[in-house]
Amino acid sequence: MSQASTPYSADSGTSPPEDEAPLRRIYHFGNGEADGDASMVQVLGGKGANLAEMSKMGLPVPCGFTLTTDLCAYYHAHDNTLPPDLRTDIEAAIKKLEAETKAEFGDNKNPLLLSVRSGAPSSMPGMMDTVLNLGLNDETVHALAAHFNDTRFAWDSYRRFLQLYGDVVMGVSHDRFEDILDDYKLEKKLDSDSDFTAQDWQHICAAFRDAIGEDTGQAFPQSPSEQLWAAVSAVFASWHNPRAITYRRLQNIAESPGTAVTIQAMVFGNLSGDSATGVAFTRNPSTGQARVFGEFLPNAQGEDIVSGIRTPLHITKEARLGSSMREPSLEESMPETFSQLCDVFAQLEARFHDMQDIEFTIQQGALFILQTRDGKRTTRAGLKIAADMVGEGILTQDEAVMRLDPISLEQLLHPTLDPNAKYEIIVKGLPASPGAASGKVAFTAAQAEERAGRGEDVILLRSETTPEDIHGMYAAQGILTSRGGMTSHAAVVARGLGRPCICGATSIQIDLEKGTALLGKHRLVEGDIITIDGSTGNVMAGKVATLEAELSGDFAKLMAWADAHRTLEIRANAETPMDAARARRLGAEGIGLVRTEHMFFDPERLFNLRLLLLSQNPTQERKAMDTLEPAQREDFAKLFKEMAGHPITIRLLDPPIHEFLPTPHDDITDLADALDMTERSLRSKIEGLQEVNPMLGHRGSRLGLTMPQIYEMQLRALFAARQDSAPAPDAPPIEIMFPLIMAGQELAQLCEMTQNIAREVKAREGDYIIGSMIEVPRAALVADQLAAHAVFFSFGTNDLTQTTLALSRDDAGRFLGDYTSRAILAADPFRTLDIDGVGSLMKIAVAKARSVRPDIKLGLCGEHGGDPQSIRFCHALGFDYVSCSPYRVPIARLAAAQAALLAAKSS
Ligand code: ADP
Ligand code: MG
Ligand code: MG
Repeated sequence: MSQASTPYSADSGTSPPEDEAPLRRIYHFGNGEADGDASMVQVLGGKGANLAEMSKMGLPVPCGFTLTTDLCAYYHAHDNTLPPDLRTDIEAAIKKLEAETKAEFGDNKNPLLLSVRSGAPSSMPGMMDTVLNLGLNDETVHALAAHFNDTRFAWDSYRRFLQLYGDVVMGVSHDRFEDILDDYKLEKKLDSDSDFTAQDWQHICAAFRDAIGEDTGQAFPQSPSEQLWAAVSAVFASWHNPRAITYRRLQNIAESPGTAVTIQAMVFGNLSGDSATGVAFTRNPSTGQARVFGEFLPNAQGEDIVSGIRTPLHITKEARLGSSMREPSLEESMPETFSQLCDVFAQLEARFHDMQDIEFTIQQGALFILQTRDGKRTTRAGLKIAADMVGEGILTQDEAVMRLDPISLEQLLHPTLDPNAKYEIIVKGLPASPGAASGKVAFTAAQAEERAGRGEDVILLRSETTPEDIHGMYAAQGILTSRGGMTSHAAVVARGLGRPCICGATSIQIDLEKGTALLGKHRLVEGDIITIDGSTGNVMAGKVATLEAELSGDFAKLMAWADAHRTLEIRANAETPMDAARARRLGAEGIGLVRTEHMFFDPERLFNLRLLLLSQNPTQERKAMDTLEPAQREDFAKLFKEMAGHPITIRLLDPPIHEFLPTPHDDITDLADALDMTERSLRSKIEGLQEVNPMLGHRGSRLGLTMPQIYEMQLRALFAARQDSAPAPDAPPIEIMFPLIMAGQELAQLCEMTQNIAREVKAREGDYIIGSMIEVPRAALVADQLAAHAVFFSFGTNDLTQTTLALSRDDAGRFLGDYTSRAILAADPFRTLDIDGVGSLMKIAVAKARSVRPDIKLGLCGEHGGDPQSIRFCHALGFDYVSCSPYRVPIARLAAAQAALLAAKSS
């Protein structure tokens, strides 16, 4: 739901208002005011913009200021340095914070502590760095202890700061600090961080400082302003860390402008008594249920809750009762703060017109909101939320349709476990992201990626995931972790990626070194197959049968709203009655592409097709035809029956001849017998048909014209099947389509062939129409000549992309990634239509065709038919339909509705 229509979404960021200095670099917020607001996402990042907005709304937000994304661009363009005069500006901004908080940065009585936070225009959770408790040093730590009368808290804050600063700014590895902590715990027999005393933390601080000194050869800086400047630089630098770069690539997030940096007064969830930190969604992000959903940890700070070091507590009593948890929920332990929180949630939803994902901290009973953003959700939840919000009057139907991300609908099509399947549950965890998946277990992201690269289904099994694992999570069919809750990294990312996920399956023990794991009593080695059900949290041994999803309820409701706006017809590419039925179920209004070659995969048919292609005389040809024709006729008749009343476009045989011929390793004894040839002469005949460049060779209509027996057989089968299926008088005509057309004369001769056969078999007038595929540049350029014979065009954009870019789809993978990352191509042209190039040819073709046949019917078949951006282009060109794979049909329906709504809005 990120490409939203409200003025508060990430996409609609605007520049600062004109009356402000154009080079403003610092935007203050706090005390019910702010220089910026939610519309300034591009300048302030999502986090900074929404903090400003919340401050303006009068919500309890600790004061602070945001350094603009322009500074990030500056930093990277100037050899990793910031404008020197920025120091003075920051000093002035700090002065203002000091006045507001009545604390002083670096003070020895009441030190102001700061968080330095990253925040880009598009949400990138956990990908960049944040430093907390900045301003502490060997002296201010004592002042902090005295001011709050809490020594443990002060040293706990200091060790957190040393660790974050050491890691983010000074480059000491996270593990180094964790090892020190683990060793200390072992030595002192401490179970959890909560058992640490002030002395323990003081000891840890000294050890952390020593580690920083040893590892970097530099002393940890005591000066707060030096700390601040270095932290700001480090956060800007983190825009270019490898995991952030990978994340942007996978999520299609722009490299510019960069991240903003927010500097904010700290509030403390790690004080003793009524202090806590938490994360919450205003609605349930898995189911969409309109109930607050979240977790919190008393006496904690920052990432404690997502890192899984302690088990978080529930926010609502209802959720606690539904689990086995004894500890009271926030609703029970701090009822007033809880109701204040619910009030904030309602205000935020009303303001942002969407479900919000919130980070908050409670300092001695006082609530502070630290972040809000549109919450990631499962698709099912997204549909429910959109439908509910229309009911609640928060959204209109149009807005609800605009808010859904078409691509995300794919998630709904995830299979569920077959209820009749027998299986044994070996362990249980939290149902973190729905859908069932089976695959081979991989213990690292690298293993997962490697196996997936070999075409295997993989389940990534980790104790917990970190942002470094993102590529493995992407490659995996499902994710399983032994630690972490419903808001852990694994859970959040899996829901975003639409991968089934189970978290916190605590009875799993992984031995990374041995490459084995114990799932309860069940022992696994890397590569063993398991099945996970992210809707229930059940993990099963082996592969369990799955079923396709049920598409009713909110899905049907939203799709009906979408269909009401759509003008493009949506068809599917399908060959079998089963695919056709699935396509219909998913809302396809017809078939836009039947690839008839798929009807020859059966061994017996393939044998006869070979006979037909290699026949020595009319008798052999007749014999082959006598078996092929009835088979084709039956296939077509079944398809016509399944699609009764709906249009079907049949493409006659398209691929290069060699795809059907035996390879040198195949046994050809029977074929030689049937052809009355010696094996040797048959082999040499086959060899003679080999081509150097088959994709540009003897294929498609070229084959159809020069070896007419194939197309003639197909046409006869088609017309006969039409009669067999006894169409209603008003049934739409069969759309016969010729592939790889390049010239008007070519099409004219094929039309003549078709008419001759039609006459021969007494096909009725109105039984068929003839169209041309447009898939080579010449066809587009002479579209007027083609339109003289063709009643419809279908743009075969897979081949049209290959032939326009001189790029083979099968080989381009080797370098295409480089071309998109260097911004030579905006996107993979086989996924998203290359509008500048291929799109221009399409425009020419459309104009030329309409000049001779104004009402020519225009469609697109190919991968792009399921791509929202390409669909928008087709809508703009006034196409009649797009056709895509059955599973993409809902995506296309929604994308076409959005295209229509957008066009209506901008006209
Ligand atoms: P991320 O983008 O990774 O979520 P944040 O900037 O939101 O990073 O910081 C992570 C966490 O640090 C927050 O969720 C919050 O718990 C804590 N934090 C950030 N700023 C403050 C602050 N001013 N006071 C207290 N805690 C803070
Ligand atoms: Mg975080
Ligand atoms: Mg955050």
